[in-house]
Amino acid sequence: MKRIAILGSTGSIGTQALEVIEAHPENGVVELLTAHNNANLLIEQAIKFSPNSVVISNEDHYLKVKDSLAHLPIKVYAGADAIVQCVCSDEIDLVLTAQVGFSGLRPTIAAIQAGKTIALANKETLVVAGDYISSLCLKHNVKIIPVDSEHSAIFQCLVGEYSNPIEKIYLTASGGPFRGKTKSELALVTKAQALKHPNWTMGAKITIDSASLMNKALEIIEAKWLFGLEANQIDVIVHPQSIIHSIVQFNDGSMKAQMGLPDMKLPIHYAFTYPERISSSFPRFDFLKFPQLSFETPDKQTFRSLEMAYYCLQEGGNMACILNAANEVANAAFLNDKIKFLQIFDLVEGTLERATFIAKPTINNYYESDAEAREIANNLIK
Ligand code: NDP
Ligand code: MG
Repeated sequence: MKRIAILGSTGSIGTQALEVIEAHPENGVVELLTAHNNANLLIEQAIKFSPNSVVISNEDHYLKVKDSLAHLPIKVYAGADAIVQCVCSDEIDLVLTAQVGFSGLRPTIAAIQAGKTIALANKETLVVAGDYISSLCLKHNVKIIPVDSEHSAIFQCLVGEYSNPIEKIYLTASGGPFRGKTKSELALVTKAQALKHPNWTMGAKITIDSASLMNKALEIIEAKWLFGLEANQIDVIVHPQSIIHSIVQFNDGSMKAQMGLPDMKLPIHYAFTYPERISSSFPRFDFLKFPQLSFETPDKQTFRSLEMAYYCLQEGGNMACILNAANEVANAAFLNDKIKFLQIFDLVEGTLERATFIAKPTINNYYESDAEAREIANNLIK
């Protein structure tokens, strides 16, 4: 029985992970749950799943969580440092990193240092510090099992291929709610439109990233580190139905694709059961409901994020860390009605141009770089 920690249990991935465990208790037992603001849901989850510990990272909610769980043998902690400490507990085998954004970095590092298997949803961790995380995993002999659907697809296609050379991979992209829109149309789009993803129901940050294709940009960088690829081995193909989750092309020209309904419960379940496949009750794909699967090239001129990802890979160093920080600021500013949709691209580009480049960053450089890029991006908004 795997003993599982879910960081960000109150979010879209976190709640789906708990649904997976509830539907398939043989997947493992819940050992640790963490949340930031949603104290009510965390309390509800703790009562239902009886973890050993819970952490609420926003300390303002500590007393509420503590008092509500006082009658149960559940330890309650508060603050970001508590997540970092609890995730290292000997009672945990696998850590699902489902916090959003840069906040996922520190606990993921701690979990790797403690030798935990990582089920990685928090792609920002690899975008910010992919080289550091990769060498840390090697040092501590830790496996990262991707949860992001595209990367889970690639990972599944590579099972049994050992070191057979990959020629390239194709990350599929739905194209988001604004696929096919021109620049002048995009100038007018609203937050409500951006939050309506055609195929996936996800947290607000990643939904906005999907609309700007910044999510795919982050995934290009994530793929580089997960699979040890060069930038020219990673391509993006728009596939509006989101049935083919991604494709590997091997050096003999053969291609393997992984398919399924767009439902994050599948890659979460796979990450929990890997290397086994355990029977699941999730809905099955019906070919006749999707008689046509189609493909398009992404509009890289309008959605400049993809080129920014390739630029960051080419420059290396802390460039992707700057990209991530600027995007987190731009994304939040758009959600708070401080900037228009197209300004997301301007803001990220402006920050990439201004922030200090460091060719060989240390982990501390990444934290400094993140802070500097946020300051630059925030000043560009004023
Ligand atoms: P949500 O916004 O739905 O959930 C985020 C979770 O992180 C919540 O539990 C939230 O707590 C917690 N959280 C937010 N801020 C902080 C913080 N500063 N410190 C600690 N915890 C925090 O996000 P998603 O579930 O959509 O995404 C989570 C991660 O998974 C992201 O990195 C995303 O890119 C990735 N991912 C998501 C997919 C999806 O389908 N949703 C698909 C592929 C990857 P609270 O709600 O209590 O405030
Ligand atoms: Mg994805």
